[in-house]
Amino acid sequence: DRLISANLMMEDQAVELSLRPRYLNEYIGQNQVKENLKVYIEAAKMRKEALDHVLLYGPPGLGKTTLANIIANELGVNLRTTSGPAIERPGDLAALLTNLQEGDVLFIDEIHRLHRTVEEVMYPAMEDFALDIMIGKGPSARSVRLDLPPFTLIGATTRAGLLSAPLRDRFGVISRLEFYNTDELAYIVSRAADILGIEILGDAAEEIALRSRGTPRIANRLLKRVRDFAQVRGDGIISPELASEALKRLQVDPRGLDEIDHKMLRTMIQSFRGGPVGLDTIAATIGEESQTIEDVYEPYLLQIGFLQRTPRGRVATPAAYTHLGLPLPMDKRD
Ligand code: ADP
Repeated sequence: DRLISANLMMEDQAVELSLRPRYLNEYIGQNQVKENLKVYIEAAKMRKEALDHVLLYGPPGLGKTTLANIIANELGVNLRTTSGPAIERPGDLAALLTNLQEGDVLFIDEIHRLHRTVEEVMYPAMEDFALDIMIGKGPSARSVRLDLPPFTLIGATTRAGLLSAPLRDRFGVISRLEFYNTDELAYIVSRAADILGIEILGDAAEEIALRSRGTPRIANRLLKRVRDFAQVRGDGIISPELASEALKRLQVDPRGLDEIDHKMLRTMIQSFRGGPVGLDTIAATIGEESQTIEDVYEPYLLQIGFLQRTPRGRVATPAAYTHLGLPLPMDKRD
């Protein structure tokens, strides 16, 4: 797995759990989303009703799973966690739903990957807290309606546009998570260092934050790798110099880009004159999946203004040329 990849690695899972904030007041950033959720949670508690269904979307590692856990904690209810592809048949979903207690939260990660037949069972469950099941076969088959306890579905996906319209429409709350700024990430790094008993100087936390692509999961992962360097090469304390040296050796550049980002931008610039070039063409040329580029690499490159999306394809911006130290062609200068 790549160092900056925002996907979860097995070895990291136990540590991840210890770093995960448990209540809203420990959850850093995403202020708009947090403020709104606070109100909805409070109102649901006052009415003693289940919270409306919540859809969280945004690039991996920004805190969707964490937020789902927090919502359940704040509501004081149980949380069941699963993922879209894990629910193979309608019966699997029925089993999950009938095991919920009133007000519980069901969290479905990668909800855009629900099987079509499962998704159809989900509609009445979300809307009417009812399960329609078919019994019998052939002419004597009939549908029976089962009541479910009121529950809250929290769905997570990388892009809201990946969901079918009927599913998306059944969420009362749709929230987009944003990339974190450097201050927020530096705070997350310091907090994680505290929990893990790592000594880190303030400027070093910022150095790590700057290279974390706006993503808490990457910030925490870089912290752990830098700690290894501090232990083996230094006295265990993470100074800014040590952090910078370690990150260089980890091949994470000062903006948090790694070799795949470089390859992608370089290919666009050197083989396609900076674009516009189609996503699939880029993907085929560098040997990555289009979906991975779109979900994992591209959002951050768009965010920092190295890439633009146009109707005719992706374009590398002058900032990208400068960052890679490549000359900007005459016709692209203004
Ligand atoms: P996602 O589900 O969006 O892929 P996660 O919820 O698994 O992301 O977040 C990854 C890790 O990043 C968490 O384990 C947690 O340690 C950290 N994290 C995410 N959001 C925050 C936050 N707002 N404040 C502090 N740490 C966070």
